[in-house]
Order: sequence, then structure tokens, then C-alpha cells
Amino acid sequence: MMDGKALAARVRADVARDVAELGHVGLATILVGDDPASHVYIEGKHKAATEAGIDARDVRLPADTPEADVLGLVEQLNGDDEVDGILVQLPLPEHIDETAVTYAVAPSKDVDGFHPVNAGHLYLGTPLHVPATPAGCMELLAAYGVDPSGKDAVVIGRSEIVGRPMAMLLVQAHATVTVCHSRTADLAGHVRRADIVVAAVGRPGLVTPDWVKPGAAVLDVGLTRTEEGIRGDVDPEVASVAGLLTPMPGGTGPMTIAMLLRSAVKAARFRRGLLAYPGL
Ligand code: NAP
Repeated sequence: MMDGKALAARVRADVARDVAELGHVGLATILVGDDPASHVYIEGKHKAATEAGIDARDVRLPADTPEADVLGLVEQLNGDDEVDGILVQLPLPEHIDETAVTYAVAPSKDVDGFHPVNAGHLYLGTPLHVPATPAGCMELLAAYGVDPSGKDAVVIGRSEIVGRPMAMLLVQAHATVTVCHSRTADLAGHVRRADIVVAAVGRPGLVTPDWVKPGAAVLDVGLTRTEEGIRGDVDPEVASVAGLLTPMPGGTGPMTIAMLLRSAVKAARFRRGLLAYPGL
């Protein structure tokens, strides 16, 4: 099993050391409305940020906050020198245009890596801020000695926050990448050929042992809350076939938070001129 909790603890310890060295790293989060899962995510991010010595600002707004007020707040945080990174927790309430808000965050402060400038840099192979979940998957592969170079990788899911950036990171690491989605014919056939599988769908137990090539590295990103608890996209029985597998929970989730904190440090370095970067 790939122990995401243990690796995340190591990354967070590194972040704490970097924060102490920099003197100050500021991260502001914006949460609009009362989506219970979002509140849990924001609390986890704040706890981890504070533990790492990051100056974390927790802005929570009522569900009926007008879009213009959210955009105004983002603008204000863009210009605030104490704030290195800005994170807008998604989903936003329906009356707010998520794209408009995502585009409003200054790319240098966009620790989630959702702004098209950051997505574009990832596409070009010169990433600055990368979405935390796929970044965490790459970190897990590296920590467990899996070099994607020359390997066949299958990413199930093509969302902007997980599947697509995951595919780009694997391409950059010289894997041969297949991106699968809801219209893929013969999903099992694709997965069976893969040395690396990343499942980011949100369908409990989708990937079964008979789909998996013996010895493959399998990263389970999908997360569904069921009456029996949190379930991943990967049937736990896959452990009997895979060479490496992330547990759910305790795999990709803790890494997501750790990589977000690392992104905040990157933002602080960039803003202090300690990190050269083209075009930003
Ligand atoms: P999303 O935007 O809903 O994307 C899901 C993707 O799965 C889509 O590309 C969809 O295809 C594809 N899909 C749906 N049904 C499929 C099927 N039967 N076979 C193959 N592909 C199928 O979700 P997301 O935001 O990427 O998140 C994916 C999962 O990861 C969710 O469960 C989410 O909760 C979880 N997540 C976990 C973490 C973590 O830290 N572990 C972080 C973020 C998200 P189409 O594009 O064709 O619709």
C-alpha cells in the first residue's frame, strides 16, 4: 500500500521548515455557502496550514453573497501583500459564475492551479501552480520508486481539476498516457494494459481486480461517501493484483492537502523573487 498519510506528514514537515525560513507565508481561503463537505475540506486545509506555520485567513461568506462581492474580495486579496496564495473552495452557489471567480484570482496567487494561465503553463510543460490532487499522485509515484518514463498510464476521468492535469503531468514525466471518460469504449481493456492507473471518477469499486495488470501502480482518487463509509473508485481487492495501491481513505486525500501547502510556499517564493518564472 502507498501510505499517503505518512508521505503527507513528510511533505508538511518540509513545508513547515520552508515557512520558517521564509518568515511569513499567507494563504487566504474563501468559502461561500454551507455545503457540508466544503466546510470539512476547508477545516482540514486550515488545520494543516496553521500547523505548518502558514498565516491562514479563513473567509466565509453566506450562500446569498452576490457574485460582485466575491469578485471584489478576490480583487482585494490579489492586492494584499500579506496574502501569497488564494484558494476559492468549489463548488460555489449556483448564482455565482465559477469561471469568472476562478479567472479573477491572480495567476501568481492561484495555489489551486485552476486559472487558465496556470493550466496553460502545465500544458506547455512549464508548470508553476498545479492542481494539488494530481500533484500529490505524482509525489506518491516518486516516493514509491515508480518512474512513469516509458510506462503505459491510464487516467480515468478528464475533469479540469484531476483527470486532465494528471494526464499532463504524466506526459511530462514521459509516460504514454490514455485518458478515459464516460464515453470510452472498453474501459477495462485500456486499464488492463496500464502500468499506472489513476482512477478519478466517483464511482465506488469501478476498478476491479480483473481489470488490473499484475504489478501495476494504482492510484485511487475517487471519493464517495456511502452509508458504509468513504469508498474509492478502486475495489480494495485490487490489492491482491496491483504492485502498489493507495488506500481509501489515507492515500491521495492527505496528499492533496500537503501539496496545496507546498503550492502556498511556491507562491510566496515567487512573489519574493526567489523563483524565476517565465511569463508571469
Ligand atoms: P468530475 O468532474 O465529476 O469528473 C468525473 C470524470 O469521470 C468525468 O471525466 C467523467 O467523464 C468520468 N466518468 C464518469 N463516469 C464514468 C465511467 N462510468 N467510466 C469512465 N469515466 C467516467 O469529478 P472530479 O472533480 O474529477 O473528481 C473525481 C472524483 O475524485 C470524485 O469522486 C471526487 O470526489 C474525487 N476527488 C478526490 C480528491 C482527493 O483528494 N482524493 C480530490 C478531488 C476529487 P465525462 O467527462 O465524460 O463526463
